[in-house]
Amino acid sequence: MTEEDWGQIRETLRDMVGNNNYVTWIEPLKFVGCQNGVLEFGVKTTFMGDWVSRNFGDKIQAQSVKHGCQVDRLSFAVEAAARPGVTRIAPVAHQAAHASSLTKVASKTTTKANGDLLGAPLDRRFTFDSFVVGKPNELAHAASRRVAEGGPVTFNPLFLYGGVGLGKTHLMHAIAWELQERSPELRVVYLSAEQFMYRFIQALRDKQMMDFKELFRSVDVLMVDDVQFIAGKDSTQDEFFHTFNALVDQGKQVIISADRSPGEIDGLEDRIKSRLQWGLVVDLHPTDYELRLGILQQKVEVYKSQFQELHIADGVLEFLAHRISNNVRVLEGALTRLFAFASLVGREITLDLASESLSDILRQSDRKVTMDEIMRKTCDFYNVRMSDLLSPKRSRNIARPRQVAMYLAKQLTQRSYPEIGKRIGGRDHTTVIHAVRKIEELKAQDSQIAEDIELLRRMLEA
Ligand code: ADP
Ligand code: MG
Repeated sequence: MTEEDWGQIRETLRDMVGNNNYVTWIEPLKFVGCQNGVLEFGVKTTFMGDWVSRNFGDKIQAQSVKHGCQVDRLSFAVEAAARPGVTRIAPVAHQAAHASSLTKVASKTTTKANGDLLGAPLDRRFTFDSFVVGKPNELAHAASRRVAEGGPVTFNPLFLYGGVGLGKTHLMHAIAWELQERSPELRVVYLSAEQFMYRFIQALRDKQMMDFKELFRSVDVLMVDDVQFIAGKDSTQDEFFHTFNALVDQGKQVIISADRSPGEIDGLEDRIKSRLQWGLVVDLHPTDYELRLGILQQKVEVYKSQFQELHIADGVLEFLAHRISNNVRVLEGALTRLFAFASLVGREITLDLASESLSDILRQSDRKVTMDEIMRKTCDFYNVRMSDLLSPKRSRNIARPRQVAMYLAKQLTQRSYPEIGKRIGGRDHTTVIHAVRKIEELKAQDSQIAEDIELLRRMLEA
């Protein structure tokens, strides 16, 4: 099959899937080639490939066959960032055919020329530009920036730790990109602790320990991701420790990440624990609402710059930022799914669509709504202080949120009028009854108020 054939097949697909789908999913596929019945495309993200495969795979295959091209299977390759100079170590599966290539991997010329060797490239999306900074990650970000400036090594190692999906890998890749941009002559090696272990075992097996040592001791900057992985794996730990020491002694920068602080990693030798704490240890805290919202907004901008057509109703991002947990990966996944749904059904992204299409993700973060949450979220939403909400103050800007809180408490909890009154500033049950009526009235009259309350309700509930 030639690229031209694909061009024609594509056109028939346009009629079958509709223009909207065509533009979003089919057109961006980069024709790579067709060999031995495998039709290969380049895609921007794994998600894109999965989606196309699941939803349009059969059609693509059928149309290709109709066109006289034998296609048994589709294959999607995520387009690797082709920035020169950064040494990337391939995962083992891709490496099998290149058993004796340890030293080659480290040489920049091979890096450039030999794309197939480099199965684990740095993710081109993981840059400082795309990293949203907030309170929970500002220290980790600042430290990463500092290291990425190059220059004399001030803290060694830099040890980043935090829970899953909080941006450790993102920051490490960002450092690598930045260093490479500033100082292309530097040899920067990024790999996971798991890959380090496989490399090590492979070197042992192939009797290439000299090459292995030489490779790892000749880098300028070494980054090892998820180092908790080597806990309990004694000979790997040992080799890691020697590599680490050799580099630090030479004044080479080492950057390590883990899901816990060094002291908390069970099965890690004490000498390694203490050595890892010599430099700067910073943690990424769980995300807060502001950071989640910032990340969502940024992702939407990026998406818009690629696909233009995207309408998101007010309040949807706020809703997601409130309802989805700490893990940024889950947050991103939710947004991607939402985009996909919206583009498939050709609908605007509304709160309804979001609750429908994300019900499983939302359910996971589901729990009983408490009075406390209602009061807190209502205060946040209307920007009033809790102490004011609970006070006897009767000015409209405080009384209205207070009534909303009472209304929501009645709607979302099993509490009685007297109980609600008691919790919200020790008020009489008749005040609560009045508040509930008042809000019902207002909702009927004023669509803005109705929307606000609906949004608040969804934030609090499912
Ligand atoms: P970790 O390595 O800590 O498990 P990752 O670095 O893989 O987490 O981050 C998970 C996902 O969330 C990635 O897609 C990453 O780009 C994104 N992400 C995490 N933190 C941020 C942030 N502060 N700004 C933008 N994207 C982020
Ligand atoms: Mg990671």
